[in-house]
Amino acid sequence: MTIELSELVEQIDSRKDELIDLLKKLIEFKTPAPPARNTKEAQTFIANFLQEKGFIIDMWDVYPNDPNVVGVLNGKEEHAYKSLIINGHIDVAEVGKDENWDVDPFIPIVKNGAVIGRGAADMKGGLAGALFAIQLLHEAGIDLPGSLLFQSVIGEEVGEAGTLECCKRGYKADFAVVVDTSDLHIQGQGGVITGWITVKSDQTFHDATRRQMIHAGGKLFGASAIEKMMVIINGLQELERHWAVTKSYQGFLPGTNTINPAVIEGGRHAAFIADECRLWITVHYYPNETHEQIIEEIEEHIRHVANADPWLRKNPPIFEWGGKSMIVDRGEIFPSLEVDPNELGVKQLASAHREVIQEEVIIDVSPSVTDGGWLGEAGIPTAIYGPGNLQNAHAVNEQVSIGQLVSYTKVILMFIYNWCNTKRL
Ligand SMILES: [Zn+2]
Repeated sequence: MTIELSELVEQIDSRKDELIDLLKKLIEFKTPAPPARNTKEAQTFIANFLQEKGFIIDMWDVYPNDPNVVGVLNGKEEHAYKSLIINGHIDVAEVGKDENWDVDPFIPIVKNGAVIGRGAADMKGGLAGALFAIQLLHEAGIDLPGSLLFQSVIGEEVGEAGTLECCKRGYKADFAVVVDTSDLHIQGQGGVITGWITVKSDQTFHDATRRQMIHAGGKLFGASAIEKMMVIINGLQELERHWAVTKSYQGFLPGTNTINPAVIEGGRHAAFIADECRLWITVHYYPNETHEQIIEEIEEHIRHVANADPWLRKNPPIFEWGGKSMIVDRGEIFPSLEVDPNELGVKQLASAHREVIQEEVIIDVSPSVTDGGWLGEAGIPTAIYGPGNLQNAHAVNEQVSIGQLVSYTKVILMFIYNWCNTKRL
């Protein structure tokens, strides 16, 4: 560590009240999703904060009143040195009516060495630490040779891919850190995709025809879409069990790759045979699989299941996968992310962690999902690394330990400095 850098890192201890105030400030912006469409004020604050530190700001509406912010600090030798994306979401989990908080979730307080408030762990702590690190670098007059990009995105809690929009806009870097809740582990993640399976009859029959379509001699070739969906659900369970038996991934309990029949809608009225039934499923898969592959496996299996049923063979199920938002079109995708421990960015992050915490970092997988998958899918080597633990994410009296927040801020400051001072090959 250079003297300059070690002095900066030490400053975080003596200035931790400023860091806590910054986190409190972020928590005070009420950005729960759902309902969403409430992040503009918080995003404007972040945009101004970054602009004051020399960043060029790109701020655009992903949805009305829900803008993304990307700040770019061009490196003074940007072509010769490594670039970095710091990514975090500004939205927080909703506060349910039945949640019994000791304090107002949006008026944060410090208690027993922790900051308590909605988003403290997931993930305004991560955002505050990274922003404070940037402030210290700026105040010290350090011009990084490599470029630094800061992405504050919307919609993560409701499956809206604010991060995907950043990738589509062309933002790239040599490495990305998603500063979401990881308890200071370096993490990859499994993926999630939701889908709708529809069973539909091309004819609508009256309830009184049921005898003719299910009993000998009735001669009516028809079926209840609800009953045929039972065949599909059984098929999904067979596949889920097959996956549990045959697939595994280090860090996940066997059978974490589940297919959840989460919501079912079907039938039109008690006087009719159900002519349509729709099933909403949530599929969890492992980091070394892609959602394209998973879609293929499910559709293929269910096609065979349908082919073994005389009515479904003629009326095959229809699949619709993913979606842009759980609250707009009722669907989402979180691509999986594999972390390569030999990746230079991961090694440097691990060594910054070692230097600050005096312990080896744990490299494992998140039991949850983050935006990291989108960056990985855009071809950017990415790791999840942030303060706070998942027991606190979305929880009543959500909190982050100040000790951990301070350590994280030191690590991320050191990592930003070292990475953006690393020459490209
Ligand atoms: Zn999060």
